[in-house]
Amino acid sequence: MYDIAIVGAGPAGASAALFAAKAGKRTLVLDSDKSMTKRAWMENHYGIMEISGPDMIETGKKQASKFGAEIVEGKVVNIVKTDAGFQIEAEQGTFEAQQVILATGVLVDLAETIGLKTKPGTEPRIKTVFDVDAEGRTNIDGIWAAGTAAGVSVHTIVTAGDGAKVAINILSQLNGERYVDHDLLKS
Ligand SMILES: Cc1cc2nc3c(=O)[nH]c(=O)nc-3n(C[C@H](O)[C@H](O)[C@H](O)COP(=O)(O)OP(=O)(O)OC[C@H]3O[C@@H](n4cnc5c(N)ncnc54)[C@H](O)[C@@H]3O)c2cc1C
Repeated sequence: MYDIAIVGAGPAGASAALFAAKAGKRTLVLDSDKSMTKRAWMENHYGIMEISGPDMIETGKKQASKFGAEIVEGKVVNIVKTDAGFQIEAEQGTFEAQQVILATGVLVDLAETIGLKTKPGTEPRIKTVFDVDAEGRTNIDGIWAAGTAAGVSVHTIVTAGDGAKVAINILSQLNGERYVDHDLLKS
């Protein structure tokens, strides 16, 4: 049983996985390798002069794996609520997790299968998004959404930030107090 399972390893998903794994949570990431970011070249991501989308995605996965996140390539086809949490059905098998984050980019086709509420997107070229509250909660308790799929501005600094925000909200809920992850500069 994973503490947190994340569907999508683009900026939103991998950023969420980094925070979750670095907080010591058993973290699973399932990804079908269809990130729009693979076609991007970034010169507007704060703190990084310039970077290609493929390099950003690879670095994000490495950061999350460094702290123990398990990354499995494959498509998630269904998520079923159970007494203990959720059963996640993917091409590579079935997994179990207490909390789930959907960071699926422009792909919200899981919504119908799972019974998640959606709404029209408001960002350019984004047709439909998951209907979430300010914390990132969907209409199913325990399933959250982040990044493009949650309707935020389609820029890596924003989607990665939203992934971190949602992970911090879940960590705070699991820990029963607001979570902070600050490292000190070594002297
Ligand atoms: C051509 C182009 C240029 C861009 N240039 C810039 C730029 O200069 N600066 C900038 O800030 N942003 C840019 N962007 C936008 C940037 O790519 C997005 O803002 C953003 O990072 C999207 O992140 P995301 O994590 O929400 O989605 P994505 O990066 O799309 O990741 C979603 C992931 O979810 C996976 N997934 C979806 N459904 C499933 C499923 N059922 N099972 C398993 N995995 C699933 C997909 O395979 C994908 O890997 C550009 C985008 C494009 C297309």
